[in-house]
Amino acid sequence: MTAEPEALTSPAPAISEPPSGPPQFESWGRYPKYGAKVVPLNWQGDFPAVLAGSHESALPVGLGRSYGDVCLLKDGTLLQTTGMSRLIDFNPETGVLTAEAGISLAQILDFAVPRGFFLPVTPGTKYVTLGGAIANDIHGKNHEAVGSFGNHVPCFELVRSDGTRRLCSPTENPDWFAATIGGMGLTGVITWAQLRLRPIVSRALDCEHIQFHGIDEFLELKQRYQNVEYTVSWVDCVSTGKNFARGIFMMGEHSKTPGELKPSPEPKLVFPIDAPAFALNRTTVNMFNTVFFHKQMKPHVKAPQDYEPFFYPLDKVLHWNRLYGRRGLVQFQYAIPWEHAKEGTIAILREVAKSGLASFLAVLKAFGDVPSLGMMSFPQAGIMFALDFPIKPGITFPLMQRLGDMTLEYGGRLYPAKDAAMTPVQFQTFYPEWQRFARFRDPLLTSSFWERVTGEKSTL
Ligand SMILES: Cc1cc2nc3c(=O)[nH]c(=O)nc-3n(C[C@H](O)[C@H](O)[C@H](O)COP(=O)(O)OP(=O)(O)OC[C@H]3O[C@@H](n4cnc5c(N)ncnc54)[C@H](O)[C@@H]3O)c2cc1C
Repeated sequence: MTAEPEALTSPAPAISEPPSGPPQFESWGRYPKYGAKVVPLNWQGDFPAVLAGSHESALPVGLGRSYGDVCLLKDGTLLQTTGMSRLIDFNPETGVLTAEAGISLAQILDFAVPRGFFLPVTPGTKYVTLGGAIANDIHGKNHEAVGSFGNHVPCFELVRSDGTRRLCSPTENPDWFAATIGGMGLTGVITWAQLRLRPIVSRALDCEHIQFHGIDEFLELKQRYQNVEYTVSWVDCVSTGKNFARGIFMMGEHSKTPGELKPSPEPKLVFPIDAPAFALNRTTVNMFNTVFFHKQMKPHVKAPQDYEPFFYPLDKVLHWNRLYGRRGLVQFQYAIPWEHAKEGTIAILREVAKSGLASFLAVLKAFGDVPSLGMMSFPQAGIMFALDFPIKPGITFPLMQRLGDMTLEYGGRLYPAKDAAMTPVQFQTFYPEWQRFARFRDPLLTSSFWERVTGEKSTL
């Protein structure tokens, strides 16, 4: 059964973003900066026709919410997919939505929430596209319960630069399906995809926030609340001594009491300027962390919360990445298997403290053992930890290199969607499948990330 077909034919409304002059494309970390040509795709048939006669390599991109260079291509053409944002079909019996790949998760939520449906997996921002979510096989706060995004994608269409179109699913072209989930945009352009939504009866979640002191207490909480669907923790990685690795364990479940199901208002706040380079330093971050840790007056707080502040607290202020100044920021995000997860996390936290660099956003959570369907997917059972760092010459990149080596030593891996610093040796050890995956790469498509970590160029 198909719901309200008239609502499904026109492009979903564009996300309101501040006007940006000539077409330019930055990743979220604003590092590295490359002036690639941006070519919009507005219709499913635009690719590969838009590249006819071009001798440049290309890369499909979404909303540029990846932090580093997985969505960048120096001296190439970026195929911007956000114009392909039409809803195609929705089946309220099964919750399966079909849409063009440039639709954002924000646009899907505006359609789905009033109908009593929610995303099966969501990252910490709703400003990512369906295609971008598949291409990085993103994960959310419910990884332990439901796995990553690709686990909820029944099928999609993949178009190659030679014009071939493939329907990909676990049973049809399964190799292409596995290569494209987490395939970083290198196997072809995803033109449309299906996504299995989950039912909800309210925008609200029943939430609890609990303070913890150290990794052992975090692990105890994780164990105690292992049946709660959404869990994530904020960690203070500046404090030392008795406050070392203190944090707040946050959890939530979709409310079972029927409540409001209206769409979200548009965000109004925009971070207006690039902050000066000194704005984020150890002292300011320490002050922020102390206030954040004590913002709850009691160690354990229970309260209902709307899904926007629970899932997307950072989306309240558009362009908050400007807080890091013109040089930008890098993120370091690892997954270390349980065997070495605790010792690895403590060692990495100590190394960060030693460096003198302060991470303002430090997010700790557990990955479960639901297997990812992608050949190159990042999640693996264990501890996942993500840290943002301002780019400080001579300090940040040497630290990233050391932390990458430590991740390798503890048997973990880093997340390409967040990376701007992984070395070829690190990448090729983290992802031993990379050579098999390379056989599925479209000869016309490449990215600055791929060229950096493999040395392979497109074969034009
Ligand atoms: C504040 C914030 C919080 C975040 N939280 C999380 C989180 O909790 N979990 C998580 O996993 N990630 C998280 N991310 C990262 C983000 O979810 C991913 O980087 C996501 O892939 C970005 O999607 P995008 O549409 O912006 O794509 P882009 O960043 O533009 O591109 C991402 C990749 O997708 C490819 N791609 C895009 N469209 C297509 C297409 N149609 N066909 C083929 N390939 C395509 C690109 O080539 C590129 O390799 C977060 C990012 C931010 C800024």
